Amino acid sequence: MSDLSAIVTTDPDIAKLISQEEQRQLHSIRLIASENYASAAVMQATGTVLTNKYSEGYAGKRYYEGQEYIDQVETLAIERAKALFGAEHANVQPYSGSPANQAVYLALCEPGDTIMGMSLPFGGHLTHGWKVNFSGIQYKSVQYELHPETHRIDLDQVRELAKEHRPRLIWTGASAYPRTWDFEAFAGIAAEIDAVLVADIAHFSGLVAGGVHPHPFPHASIVTTTTHKTLRGPRGGMILSKEEYARDLDRAIFPGLQGGPHNHTTAAIAVALKEASQDDFKDYARRIVANAAALAAALMERGFSLVTGGTDNHLILFDATAKGLSGKEGSTAMQLAGIEANSNAIPFDPRKPFDPSGIRLGTASVTSRGMNEEHMGQVAAWIDEAFAAHEDPGKLDSIRKQINEFCSGFPCPGIPT
Ligand SMILES: *Cc1c(COP(=O)(O)O)cnc(C)c1O
Repeated sequence: MSDLSAIVTTDPDIAKLISQEEQRQLHSIRLIASENYASAAVMQATGTVLTNKYSEGYAGKRYYEGQEYIDQVETLAIERAKALFGAEHANVQPYSGSPANQAVYLALCEPGDTIMGMSLPFGGHLTHGWKVNFSGIQYKSVQYELHPETHRIDLDQVRELAKEHRPRLIWTGASAYPRTWDFEAFAGIAAEIDAVLVADIAHFSGLVAGGVHPHPFPHASIVTTTTHKTLRGPRGGMILSKEEYARDLDRAIFPGLQGGPHNHTTAAIAVALKEASQDDFKDYARRIVANAAALAAALMERGFSLVTGGTDNHLILFDATAKGLSGKEGSTAMQLAGIEANSNAIPFDPRKPFDPSGIRLGTASVTSRGMNEEHMGQVAAWIDEAFAAHEDPGKLDSIRKQINEFCSGFPCPGIPT
């Protein structure tokens, strides 16, 4: 258990909720594709005196005194980010993935400019031009979808839309696409219309860092990412880019969008980047992909219908209705059995967003706690059992007890035993 003694004294209500959440994370099989377990070192960095310090500006050019240590922290984070991702420039100040993307717009576009990204119900992110997001409100957004039969990216459609609408920037990367991205092909399309290619690798930056996903550089000019998904750092964001965009991107983050950087987060990002540069991180990234492939195969063997028939990365999307439940009914049954996932739209989904047809799974969290390919058959069996028992609370509870027991064999990084 984590040491919450000071919180217990000051605020027992919050202390109790934190420790309940900790137990929940310990005892369930967490398959939410955007989540993970940050290491003890990352967690410790976030809870330090660095949270007390204001540092508007950039190293060597701050608006407040007393930056002799903060400047070194941020510079280390930047140098590590550049080295890990082979980037000419890095900004580690974005408060999270969405503000990182917002800064890209602010740096490159005027309100009303045309931009292009993958449509949200097909797997794209809100910030890639979805209609209710600032990106769809302030810019003229063109959205590409997926091929109607293969449910993979249709480069002909992307090229056609690009030539017709001539967007200023093109987003690649998504939140629910189980296949790799052909950044080179996108760069070719962007070059034809003189657009800037941006890769949002929020979900799979850990796989890129670990060498098991195609690299966005040199094809993309700008790369954005969260730091808390497969990269396994604190909640935060980064922008990596070619030198040519460095000044505009830095100015877009500060003073364009943000005030003082979250220095405690910057330190935790630096720690996570150091961890990600070690050999065992490569092994972790390789095991994430192997676990996703094993889980996909085991689910298909049990009659689950996977979008694109499998996965290349950490993520699986399946059609729950092929097993007789809606996405929400399926994810609720799984939750009651101790397996966490989220319902998700599938390509060309006929159902409504709040109760779509699909369920999205990811293997980063289970990999971080040491589960391997040999365990994925059992996880698939439990998902199948939870589906079958969706109207049987007693049976779901008995699965939950087995899963609690199973999970106790896998310690969670960042949670003291
Ligand atoms: C998660 C995600 C983001 C946004 O991250 P937040 O930290 O939640 O703001 C941006 N882009 C993609 C593709 C994502 O999956």
